[in-house]
Amino acid sequence: MNLHEYQGKEILNSFGVAIQRGIVAQTPEEAVEAAKKLTEETGTGWHVIKAQVHAGGRGKGGGVKLAKNLQEVKDIAGDIIGMNLVTPQTSKEGKKVHQVLVAEDVYYPGDNEPEEYYMSVLLNRATGKNMIMYSTEGGMDIETVAEETPHLIFNEEIDPAHGLQPFQARRVAFNLGLSGKAFKEMTKFVSALYKAYTESDSSLFEINPVLKTSDDKIIAVDAKVTLDDNALFRHKDYAAMRDKREENPVEVEAKEAGLSYVDLDGNVGCMVNGAGLAMATMDLIKQAGGEPANFLDVGGTADAERVETAFNLILKDPSVKAILVNIFGGIVRCDRVAQGIVDAYKNMGNIDVPIIVRLQGTNADKAKELIDNSGLAVQSAVEFKEAADKVQAVLS
Ligand code: GDP
Ligand code: MN
Repeated sequence: MNLHEYQGKEILNSFGVAIQRGIVAQTPEEAVEAAKKLTEETGTGWHVIKAQVHAGGRGKGGGVKLAKNLQEVKDIAGDIIGMNLVTPQTSKEGKKVHQVLVAEDVYYPGDNEPEEYYMSVLLNRATGKNMIMYSTEGGMDIETVAEETPHLIFNEEIDPAHGLQPFQARRVAFNLGLSGKAFKEMTKFVSALYKAYTESDSSLFEINPVLKTSDDKIIAVDAKVTLDDNALFRHKDYAAMRDKREENPVEVEAKEAGLSYVDLDGNVGCMVNGAGLAMATMDLIKQAGGEPANFLDVGGTADAERVETAFNLILKDPSVKAILVNIFGGIVRCDRVAQGIVDAYKNMGNIDVPIIVRLQGTNADKAKELIDNSGLAVQSAVEFKEAADKVQAVLS
């Protein structure tokens, strides 16, 4: 689950990571109130207004702007709230902005040498260790840094059994070229950041930029946080941070129905039981010259109701030109699944895309009979290859 910047910063703050302070606002009026409050707390009159959407590169898309007075806070917040923000990480249509973070300006006016670093904590699956990835080249695309100047990216691997060792935090500060107070501040920052990452059960904490001010404070100016969904049951307060408006509506609906569904770009809808078979089915569709429109695992109980919900989800995607149902009847009997498909088809009544059904396993022949005799425009297949050929035939 992804979080907004302001939510990520709340978590960071709760673990003692120094952050750029801010208050979230839904309207220009709230933004002005937020700015006043921040001025009282921090003394700064300048604020930065930041669009809160689940996408990076907001600055480039015009979603991060500096306001020098309250009128500018109001005007800029008014411009940003409600806009469709297009960034290098969104689709062409962009993402609608519902709220902004009004933050203190931490780049002091007249400070000519603020240093921006990049830092992230994530799991290195190849080594099974946590990793702090960091660079002196902050504030820009880390992908570009990795391509053009890979020697400027450092990694510190941390054995999760032992945790971050003090010498490792010092090595990070050293490699970033720090000394004196800034060095000390950075070791504190790194330790607190690592603690936030592990104790929140996150799979990614990315802070870009980490700022060093001219008076040697180290501050998280941005926060991109991905929480591990499988650990959310341990963190009810983080689970409540979910913003469904940022997620694909069909995926949200599927999740609520207990189906795992991922929207893709292709034209063949798939309904499969089991993640492995679903992956194999997507390969098969590609081999047949199609492109999968989705990943959909209906799970172990493919009864009529579930099948109908699944069909409904698939058909919400206007680019679907055919549906391939590929179900292995192990625990669930194929004839029951077939009956479910026939019932769902009849109930829905408006399915106008060809459906190819492959049922294999217990009672597969009975299932085939049921489908062939249903009088519906559903084609059955027994072999995987046969199903692929039929998909190809209906697509061409
Ligand atoms: P992103 O573009 O989505 O990664 O959003 P960031 O939060 O990283 O902000 C983009 C850029 O805005 C940063 O790299 C900074 O250069 C700039 N920025 C962020 N906060 C401030 C601030 O308080 N003052 C000033 N002057 N610039 C800021
Ligand atoms: Mn950033």
